[in-house]
Amino acid sequence: MISNKDTMVIKNCIICDDNSSAEIYINHKDFVIIHCKKCNLCYQQTIRQVGSLEAIYNNIYESSPYVIKNKYYWKNKMKACYQEISRYKKKPGNLFDIGCSYGFLMEFFISKGWNATGMDICENAITYARKQGLDCYMADIANFRHNNKFDVIVMDNVLEHFENPLEYLKLVKNFLAKDGIIYIRVPNVESVMLSSKIQSFLGDLKPFEHLFYFSKDTLNLLFDKAGLKGFMKTDGQASIGNLLNCYFRSKVVLGNSWQNLNYRVPSDKKKFYFLLKHIYGEIMSILDNIRFGSKDREIVAIASLE
Ligand SMILES: [Zn+2]
Repeated sequence: MISNKDTMVIKNCIICDDNSSAEIYINHKDFVIIHCKKCNLCYQQTIRQVGSLEAIYNNIYESSPYVIKNKYYWKNKMKACYQEISRYKKKPGNLFDIGCSYGFLMEFFISKGWNATGMDICENAITYARKQGLDCYMADIANFRHNNKFDVIVMDNVLEHFENPLEYLKLVKNFLAKDGIIYIRVPNVESVMLSSKIQSFLGDLKPFEHLFYFSKDTLNLLFDKAGLKGFMKTDGQASIGNLLNCYFRSKVVLGNSWQNLNYRVPSDKKKFYFLLKHIYGEIMSILDNIRFGSKDREIVAIASLE
């Protein structure tokens, strides 16, 4: 079942703490997604050892984000986040963006009167963000220290990347002000784009980056275990851009060749690779405007202390 020599670590369900109720949800030649029948959590069974996580993300996020910054994708992401948070926090306060990348969301909130702090494990992104004068740190939550407690902690499409989201949330709680909220956005495993009905198509899967696939119910269970209470809804439609992107991913991206390319681009080929990636991204961004289906691609959750 686990054929690749690079794979390691067979994980237990982080909610149930065992794998006796595990069944295979998706079995691809390079990775296995497990469905825990006890609690319904879906997770990648193995983690591929392609170097440290830091190295992986440094190769994905290039050092000059001049094109990315203008992308439709970032603008919509920031607007959605700001609107949702404004429903709970009427006045600006201290914001902590975990997985802040280049710091675009921080800049957006600062322009609305907020103080913003950011953290990421990607050196390229943090170097760029610091050059913009942002309060950013290249750190992991376990060794992060800050004088502030935060009114809002943002984890926008990051929770699914961690090896143990439960332990991570417990650590995040230490930085939350008493009446603070955590804004969490993750892909929805129950959406049509991740549905078992189109498994052969492989939908929105991101092996070795997305290690967990949550539903509203499993995210709620996770909050319970972490000592948080949450309110959640679904958001985000499928689009023609998604469909095409998923199709190309299922044909090319999920194979070994892309895994190697994306994580281990030789430095002399990086510029050309990123240029192609930008052009591809721009085309997909335009096609992302043609949307259809129900708004359920992602789960948006607001968590607070119990
Ligand atoms: Zn479980």
